[in-house]
Amino acid sequence: MTRRKLVAGNWKMHGLRDAVREVEAIAAAAAAHPDVDVALYVPTTLLALAAEHAGTLAIGAQDVHERDSGAHTGCISAPMLREAGATTVIVGHSERRADQNETSHDAWAKAAAARRHGLSVILCCGETEAERDAGRAERVVQAQIEKSVPEDASGDWFTLAYEPRWAIGTGRTPTVEEIAAIHAIARAKMRQMVGEAADGIRILYGGSVTGANAGTILAAPHVDGALVGGASLTAEKFVPIIEAAA
Ligand code: PEP
Repeated sequence: MTRRKLVAGNWKMHGLRDAVREVEAIAAAAAAHPDVDVALYVPTTLLALAAEHAGTLAIGAQDVHERDSGAHTGCISAPMLREAGATTVIVGHSERRADQNETSHDAWAKAAAARRHGLSVILCCGETEAERDAGRAERVVQAQIEKSVPEDASGDWFTLAYEPRWAIGTGRTPTVEEIAAIHAIARAKMRQMVGEAADGIRILYGGSVTGANAGTILAAPHVDGALVGGASLTAEKFVPIIEAAA
């Protein structure tokens, strides 16, 4: 099955209103490469503004609450994100797992909430450095997938991102062979869970992707795109990654 490549940028807690210039430039690159899907996950405060300038670029949020409304101070629900202009959301990012103690079960519940309200989802998984050094990377990723991938996951709304925690923001990446091996294991695990639908689900690699290494990583077997943090903050750095996927 052919899967379109997806290049997704995660701005994390970066960006004020003047960053709309970068959104516009990234949207222009997305329009110039219609064979690649491009998404930008901006801070909540920028959703509406970014959506106005998005064109074919998908605009997303970086988290969502599992409930639609209620007494949850500071949280944002899927209907609120939709209303603000988001069409997609990241769940289970390792920074939220580390900073907010989020679990794979939380990621599962958040993905389900997003799905209920028509938001597509990128769900993140990945091992720590200690887990990799102990030879447990494959088992850790399999266990995260088992606990977090929804039973109705399919490629039209669901994407998995493999992001080894030790590669995020460090300038270090696994070898292409290591990335391909985990992606193959991740797809096999999803096949056990959702059957043939797993073949339509994109698996992105994330962790220190740059314009310099994107071509090699994106050409690796089983890699359907990239989730990019630091190198997505400016069009100058992000557009070469979109071009590498085209
Ligand atoms: C991320 O935050 O998902 C990420 C991959 O970050 P970076 O590209 O900066 O490593």
